[in-house]
Amino acid sequence: MTDIPFARPFIGEEEEQAVLRVLRSGWLTTGEEALAFEKEFARFLAEDTAPLPCCLAVNSATSGLHLALEALGIGPGSLVLLPSYTFTSTAEVVRYLGAESVFVDIAPNSGNMDPSALEYTLSRLESGKAVPGFRGAASRPKAVIPVHFGGLPCDMASIMHIARKRGLGVVEDSAHAFPARCPFPAPDTGAVQRWAGTIGDAGVFSFYATKTITTGEGGMLVTFDTKIAERAACMRSHGIDRPVWNRYADTKASWYYEVTAPGYKYNLPDLLAAVGRAQLSRASFLLSRRREIARRYDRAFGGVPGLVIPPTSPGDARHLYPLRIAGGAEPAPGAGTESRRDAFIRRLKENGVGASVHFIPLHIMPYYKNRYTLSAGDFPETYKRYRETVSLPIWPGMTAEETERVIAVVLENAEKTGIH
Ligand SMILES: *Cc1c(COP(=O)(O)O)cnc(C)c1O
Repeated sequence: MTDIPFARPFIGEEEEQAVLRVLRSGWLTTGEEALAFEKEFARFLAEDTAPLPCCLAVNSATSGLHLALEALGIGPGSLVLLPSYTFTSTAEVVRYLGAESVFVDIAPNSGNMDPSALEYTLSRLESGKAVPGFRGAASRPKAVIPVHFGGLPCDMASIMHIARKRGLGVVEDSAHAFPARCPFPAPDTGAVQRWAGTIGDAGVFSFYATKTITTGEGGMLVTFDTKIAERAACMRSHGIDRPVWNRYADTKASWYYEVTAPGYKYNLPDLLAAVGRAQLSRASFLLSRRREIARRYDRAFGGVPGLVIPPTSPGDARHLYPLRIAGGAEPAPGAGTESRRDAFIRRLKENGVGASVHFIPLHIMPYYKNRYTLSAGDFPETYKRYRETVSLPIWPGMTAEETERVIAVVLENAEKTGIH
């Protein structure tokens, strides 16, 4: 039997043709394809009553997060609140700008940033009291980055309420959440939900190779704030004050431009944007496939003693399937010091099923741990979740047989690992 990888992109004829089209066009870097991708992405996220969001294609979500924070004026002396339970991108961009990350624990159920922990951390900082990593420093909270973990939308209504009453910026790390719907009551329009990534000041999606739609590497910054959009567009392209991508190809375009800031080079080339357009046109199909697989897993694992299926909501993008193993940190029977969770992953691999762990918390990573003098127990829910979780394969091209094989291997090895 062939192995089942943890992730595999869904690539077909459309993506192949898109790449050939660009290769043969004579224009490989950012141009018409990137502009079309941005327009189509904006149309996808359009709500009935609202204007189209501004969408900026970038070469990664990391770049997009950096641009969004830069446009919000984050810099030395700023504190940015974010979960420790995320990928390092979310925090490293804060350091790029000379600002500091303040970690917030997750809610025990959702795995997303806990609004009450956010409120608690902010009020302690405001009254000069210590929080893990900070002891009444001169820095001030400036922004919050909620992460829609695994595609499950955060409690954005609570997070926006907490941030807005203090004038904090909000950047949604939506790397997992394309497309996801958030419950978000808006009394002025009567809307009851919004797309994840369109609620804060800016939202950033990832098109990394394992994400819900992919260009290999890539991302999209989304905002309704034209000031943020203008600044981010300028900084995406070396701090140049106007679009100049067509200065070589279009005989009417001027050669003249001005550099207004030491910007970055974060544009998405047309070769990748063309793949993104093909992927975008499949986004709803890909979502329905992930949902089918997740539902099948839910039925198979729900009620099995020792296994805890991931929480979900109707708008969940189902990017990951983070199965939890109760007591996963306990030693596995007959496996020395190896934990149940670690033994379980090893057994899955031995049986040809790829698995992963989302996430190793940032507060136990050497850099953040040392910089902020943190210990594992500072964010107990995050640490507990990390020790119990295993992400199963949930890629849209998985066949029914492959899904059933993952289920069989999980159930058989849960028993062998002493999970039930
Ligand atoms: C993948 C990921 C990112 C970074 O995405 P890139 O496009 O690879 O830069 C950021 N945040 C989270 C939560 C991610 O999983």
